Amino acid sequence: MSYVTELICSSCGTEHAADQVQTVCRLCEKPLLVQYDLSRLAASWTPEVLTDRPFTMWRYHEVLPATPDPRYNLGEGGTPLVRLSRMGARWGLPHLALKDEGQNPTLSFKARGLSMAVSRAYELGCSHLAIPSAGNAAGALAVYTARLGLRCTVFMPEDTPQANITECQIAGAEVHLIPGTIADAGKALQAYQQQHPEVFSVSTLREPYRIEGKKTMGYELFEQYNHELPDVIIYPTGGGTGLIGMWKAFQEMKALGWVKGPLPRMVAVQSTGCAPIVRAFEHGLDYAPPWKHPRTLASGIRVPAALGDFLILKALRESRGTAVAVPDEAILQVMQELVQEEGILTAPEGAATLAAVPVLQQKGFLREQDRIVLFNTGSGYKYQRVLDRLRQKADANVYGTSSDLP
Ligand SMILES: *Cc1c(COP(=O)(O)O)cnc(C)c1O
Ligand SMILES: [Zn+2]
Repeated sequence: MSYVTELICSSCGTEHAADQVQTVCRLCEKPLLVQYDLSRLAASWTPEVLTDRPFTMWRYHEVLPATPDPRYNLGEGGTPLVRLSRMGARWGLPHLALKDEGQNPTLSFKARGLSMAVSRAYELGCSHLAIPSAGNAAGALAVYTARLGLRCTVFMPEDTPQANITECQIAGAEVHLIPGTIADAGKALQAYQQQHPEVFSVSTLREPYRIEGKKTMGYELFEQYNHELPDVIIYPTGGGTGLIGMWKAFQEMKALGWVKGPLPRMVAVQSTGCAPIVRAFEHGLDYAPPWKHPRTLASGIRVPAALGDFLILKALRESRGTAVAVPDEAILQVMQELVQEEGILTAPEGAATLAAVPVLQQKGFLREQDRIVLFNTGSGYKYQRVLDRLRQKADANVYGTSSDLP
């Protein structure tokens, strides 16, 4: 049974029907957010109800917009919270942990959002989906559409990691490589839609459901902290879907009576080569002007302009959080340390959150007793060019030569 009531505009509050295909607000073109009848749900839905359900994101189906169905799903969500004891000891932070989203289907947390969006689009009768993507979102869309027999067209920057391009190709998607960034890929998709009006775009926050998949990370943290929430969440921010989604989940949990007291302080991390949200936060702005000439090896956060910029900035301020930028050299260094000391080959975006820790300490933002969650949003195994750079430093450890044969 669905508890969805309607969709409301995140900016002007206009209501939209949830049982029809929707994109952005018909009045102001800002993102739509799904609303649930939480007061009806609160009467019967307690955290204890969840106990015997499989640990995937679908265990929260009462607050999700699509029906769980084994034809659509691949077991997304339910990722481990890993303690970082050695890195934590180094920084004097005994409660440092990492949510390892690299263990999702297609090796990134994009699986949560796209599983949800594709499921709902299928329920509503869409047959051809398309996306502009920095890489991981396209890979996830390609497999979920393949699973349901839908057409899939993806638009990616031409310098997207090869693994992302290949995974789309072999899953049967039509792949368009575009000079420039994800913003240029978005423009190419808009032009394509003029020619193909039947195409439904699942571009970040241009449809209401990806965020509902990503918000489940917030519900999982609540369960993994024994029905409490951590003190600080450090998140590598591109379009901001996960950050906005978790902040939405926390408001829902408050309305359900699951959590009381202060919510986690939310921290957005970006690269110094592309930091529109950090700049806007520091200047006290409500919206983030686009970043010119974005450059970072952390491709998932190379997002010069985000439709949900005002929602990210609002969540940072309401939570008494902050925003910091870290250079690519620090990201590479930390990526190496994380695999050597903690055994986790993170995506560079995930390593950026740990690179932000000393910066936050210098600002006096972190306390020793804080329970801190870093988000590793993807797997390092997909970033061959980045791995090659790390390998060059480690070449001294290899004896013999590897052959090209498997
Ligand atoms: C997409 C992506 C991000 C950014 O996620 P948002 O929720 O859109 O801000 C971060 N890391 C990786 C690996 C990604 O693929
Ligand atoms: Zn509106």
